[in-house]
Amino acid sequence: MSLNIDLHSHSSCSDGVLPPAQVAARAHAQGVDWWSLSDHDETSGLAEAAAAARALGLGFIPGVEISVTFCERTIHVLGLHIDPDQPDLNAGLAGIRRSRFERAGEIAERLRDCGIDGAYEGALRHVDNPDLISRVHFARHLLEQGHCKSLQQAFDRYLGEGKRAFVPTRWPSLESAVAWIRAASGKAVIAHPGRYRYTPLQFDALFDAFKALGGSGLEVVSSGHTPAQCDHYARVAQAYGFEASRGSDFHAPGTPRAELGRVPPLPDGLVPVWRDWI
Ligand code: AMP
Ligand code: MN
Ligand code: MN
Ligand code: MN
Repeated sequence: MSLNIDLHSHSSCSDGVLPPAQVAARAHAQGVDWWSLSDHDETSGLAEAAAAARALGLGFIPGVEISVTFCERTIHVLGLHIDPDQPDLNAGLAGIRRSRFERAGEIAERLRDCGIDGAYEGALRHVDNPDLISRVHFARHLLEQGHCKSLQQAFDRYLGEGKRAFVPTRWPSLESAVAWIRAASGKAVIAHPGRYRYTPLQFDALFDAFKALGGSGLEVVSSGHTPAQCDHYARVAQAYGFEASRGSDFHAPGTPRAELGRVPPLPDGLVPVWRDWI
């Protein structure tokens, strides 16, 4: 039996709903052998996650998922096996979290223009970590107030790219994010590449730039990928000489497709990103 390795998940320190120790317990209960907590732009949950994993006998890899702007679009870069105390990484992430609060004020203004008042305070009521606010917190508020029927509809109507309350944001460059991850002795991995709406030329530019900067891998297996996308990014990883990762992108119970440890195994013939750690 091969190991069940899940290197992408979220806690209530970013836009997940469970605290880090409960994500650890759920990963263990789902049969995960090695787990990474990789909260958006935040490392404050890693100490609790590591302690909980140790107590359970669950392997733990400290992670983070960094928001990056490349070719005018937002992408996510995982930093895996990072030192969570590295100062450059933490200064960079703190800057992103400040931008998130600035963006939140603008999102609330745009929602006011849609006739929805008090969204900033409403979103804050769903925030667990006072240092991090996400569009998901707005989505939970909009759902609670009956402005939409699901979180997905909150994005489709208001918060998603190009929608009425969408605020374009300039996140750090790919170069900065990869440099912070490498300074923290981690490996940089492009999260769920199949979710980005790039042209083939832009994808080539992304993978070329990432390779040149010292990026290590692609998240080939993700709950955000169809089976065909898993196969496609397996071939891309081989063509570029990237290592491959596997992650559920778990955020909350009740999403069977994105349950901890439940995405497909890594396709054969790839070099796993975890080969030096596990
Ligand atoms: P943020 O990082 O604050 O911009 O929020 C992005 C997060 O929203 C993602 O990490 C997902 O967890 C969640 N999300 C859910 N549905 C969507 C969607 N349709 N578009 C973008 N993000 C979504
Ligand atoms: Mn998220
Ligand atoms: Mn992501
Ligand atoms: Mn994620």
